[in-house]
Amino acid sequence: MAAEKKYDVIIIGAGPGGMTTALYASRANLKVVMLDRGAYGGNLNNTASIVNYTGFKDVQGPELAEKMYQGATQFGAEYAYGTVTKLAVEGPLKKVTTDMGDTFVAPVVVIATGSDHRKLGVPGEEEFSGRGVSYCAVCDGAFFKNRHLIVVGGGDSAIEEGLYLTQLASKVTVVVRRGELRAQPMLQDEAAQNEKMEFVYNTNVTAVVGDDIKVTGVKTHNNKTGEDGEIAADGVFIYVGNVPMTKPFTELGILDDQGWVKTDNVMKTKVPGIFAIGDVRETPLRQIATAVGDGAIAGQQVYQYLKSHN
Ligand code: NAP
Repeated sequence: MAAEKKYDVIIIGAGPGGMTTALYASRANLKVVMLDRGAYGGNLNNTASIVNYTGFKDVQGPELAEKMYQGATQFGAEYAYGTVTKLAVEGPLKKVTTDMGDTFVAPVVVIATGSDHRKLGVPGEEEFSGRGVSYCAVCDGAFFKNRHLIVVGGGDSAIEEGLYLTQLASKVTVVVRRGELRAQPMLQDEAAQNEKMEFVYNTNVTAVVGDDIKVTGVKTHNNKTGEDGEIAADGVFIYVGNVPMTKPFTELGILDDQGWVKTDNVMKTKVPGIFAIGDVRETPLRQIATAVGDGAIAGQQVYQYLKSHN
């Protein structure tokens, strides 16, 4: 059996929030590890262009992730790969287990796991996933040069990623379940001016359809007129919101009824020594800037916690 690895602080998730806590805590001379199920950067890696993070006019997500990682590790914070399967509290210590068979132990854990894309939950979505159904324009957009694409959703992600896809596709049809978008006004204006973008409102996608090989379109239901229809397309990009990544933490009693982690305004959960930051938190705003802000507060708080519990 692999030996337990001992740290002062274990950060679960190496997105913008987790990396910021790593920076602050390691700069305070704490022994810090960030655990992540994938590449550091989290959802930055699925974001083409970021125009609302201070200091950058326009930066690509993966580029920002790399810059943040260089900053986060400069004072010795480590990064380890693995999906966390369990977080157990054993007296003053917390034990974190990963699917790689590793166990990490520390008096402090910071949950920074963020959120994952919500599934639409219609027939064909699962079946055609990777064969025309995608949740990541940056990853898969290039497969659809000069093709007709459907984007499902009306929030910031749907419009921002839809706009990115117009640079590749011949046409992007955004299917929106309500009569209006939820996205911020600036994105709405940009979308309205984009000749390659069209909108179908008051419409639910009821199924993704395809042939033996790939997606050929979607079935729709107009929830105002009651009419059923079909839209032919080569790909379907789904952006219908996010769900928290909190499965390993369900037994700790720190989640709200939707699964987001409840904290106070200094990122403490009700379990001493367990903090939570960024998108995974019950919070009114989920942005890179807010995750970074949470991460800085937690970085300072974990230092205070360890000092007062020594
Ligand atoms: P979101 O804001 O929750 O929007 C989800 C969209 O999907 C809404 O239009 C919603 O419709 C629709 N939807 C939900 N379930 C659906 C279903 N079953 N069928 C059809 N449509 C459905 O999610 P998001 O756009 O992924 O954004 C998540 C968070 O990240 C937000 O806080 C957002 O502001 C932030 N974000 C910010 C930026 C930025 O600042 N540049 C970029 C991306 C994301 P309704 O409106 O009818 O509920």
